[in-house]
Amino acid sequence: MMKKENVYAAVIGGGAGGMMCAVRAAERHPKEKIVILEKADRVGKKLLVTGNGRCNLSHIGADAESYHGEGSTDLINILFKKYSSDAVLHCFHTLGLLTHADHEGRVYPLSNQASSVLDVLRKRLAELSVDMYCGEEIQSIQKTAEGYEIVTADRRIFARKAVIAVGGRNDHAGRESGSRELLRSLGVGMTKVSPSLSPVKVNNDLLRSLKGIRAQAEVRLIKNHQVVKSERGEVQFAENALSGICIFDLSREANKGGCEISVNLLPDLSPDRLYSEIEGRLQRDASASVSDIFIGMFHKNLGLAILKSSGVRPSALCKDISEKEIKSLCRHIADWRFSCEENRDFKKAQVTAGGVKLSEIDARTFMCKRHKGLYIIGEALDIDGDCGGYNLQFAFASGMCAGDSL
Ligand SMILES: Cc1cc2nc3c(=O)[nH]c(=O)nc-3n(C[C@H](O)[C@H](O)[C@H](O)COP(=O)(O)OP(=O)(O)OC[C@H]3O[C@@H](n4cnc5c(N)ncnc54)[C@H](O)[C@@H]3O)c2cc1C
Repeated sequence: MMKKENVYAAVIGGGAGGMMCAVRAAERHPKEKIVILEKADRVGKKLLVTGNGRCNLSHIGADAESYHGEGSTDLINILFKKYSSDAVLHCFHTLGLLTHADHEGRVYPLSNQASSVLDVLRKRLAELSVDMYCGEEIQSIQKTAEGYEIVTADRRIFARKAVIAVGGRNDHAGRESGSRELLRSLGVGMTKVSPSLSPVKVNNDLLRSLKGIRAQAEVRLIKNHQVVKSERGEVQFAENALSGICIFDLSREANKGGCEISVNLLPDLSPDRLYSEIEGRLQRDASASVSDIFIGMFHKNLGLAILKSSGVRPSALCKDISEKEIKSLCRHIADWRFSCEENRDFKKAQVTAGGVKLSEIDARTFMCKRHKGLYIIGEALDIDGDCGGYNLQFAFASGMCAGDSL
């Protein structure tokens, strides 16, 4: 039998933003009934896998520079005036969560366990008597005279206010969440979605031999002969992709294809010093084969791939390597180019770029301009952050803002 219920507010989606929103709304309206409707069997499942199980929940001093999406700068500037990383962390401290920041400003729970973040939210939701209905996928949401009628397979909820906190295109297990349909049914403007913070698919036959190898590098995204963005960090080579946090940070643009990633494996060496280093090695091992010149410098397979890519036969003797070949080796070490292919694989992406247009919501409350009493928060919106705690910071901050406005 269909269960019917009248509530003050229904939060659709029990992820980071939805839980935070419900906490704040319930604190503001202690006598009102507030419910979370979550399609998974438990709330906050994705939180548990964030930050490799440690949950990088915020970033000290996060500002608009680290966010993307049309209109994101204005929205973040307004939101973070009141709901900055300090405000989000203060809120978590009042919930009992102790945190620490690493040297780059990434914030983690002191326990280094993502479950601590989920536990404090769940504890507070229980204290505030917020009902968490799990296994309840929303099938439809419709406007009524008093608010919204929300329907799941076996529940019909009449809510005066509703919050859409359904996240990005994929769920915690990388499956398509179906939340796009729900958003589309509201008639709100949406931008095309694409995967972000993901490995980047590249076209290079040599990658097969490099699978699993990691190397410190500077990586640059090059589009129309211009450097669009550069990062430093660990590059992970996969069968047909480049991965690692520095690559994730280029992926938003790179996944569109039609560009290149340049990998500099020795970014601290000037071109002259790199040339003398290679020349010196070739002279030292003059009568040995060139296949060994990268011993002590790079992983063996990486060295072989550089030789092949530079057009140098690994069996050639060091003394026979021409100046042109040395230059080619240097170019491949300092500016190894990989062509990026269009990537629509959301399964390995940490966030969805694109979503509900920011012009659809009021930045001071997150209320939808065309649907009074309906709020949209978190990753469902056309805003995505860099790697480093920015996405959860936004989910929590927008959840706090909507919760305080309900
Ligand atoms: C592997 C991984 C690691 C990550 N690590 C980090 C990190 O360390 N730091 C960081 O800042 N960000 C990280 N992110 C990104 C971050 O998790 C998200 O940006 C953030 O969780 C978005 O919050 P949200 O509340 O908008 O959506 P979500 O947390 O995704 O929550 C949405 C919820 O809505 C539910 N839902 C969807 N559709 C329906 C429906 N129709 N009916 C009912 N419920 C529905 C979903 O099941 C889900 O529980 C990571 C992401 C992944 C995948």
